[in-house]
Amino acid sequence: MSANCQSCGMPLNKDPKKGGMNADGSLSTTYCSLCYENGEFLHPNFSASEMQSHCVEQLKKKGMPNVMAWLFTRGIPKLDRWTV
Ligand SMILES: [Zn+2]
Repeated sequence: MSANCQSCGMPLNKDPKKGGMNADGSLSTTYCSLCYENGEFLHPNFSASEMQSHCVEQLKKKGMPNVMAWLFTRGIPKLDRWTV
């Protein structure tokens, strides 16, 4: 079982909703609520690098320095959503 969202890399225990929602309403243990809702990706057309840029922007909005935000998100292209 993975503890991080396999789309954006966020730890699922940091997700206010504890995970995304599957189409049947159950909790996803693979993706977070910012990536996945009602069984669908919220950004279905993102590439891995677009997702990374998106996450960097979110982290910077929370006050994280640019360099830290890129370090934090550099594992995104290796996550399941982007490698299968
Ligand atoms: Zn996510």
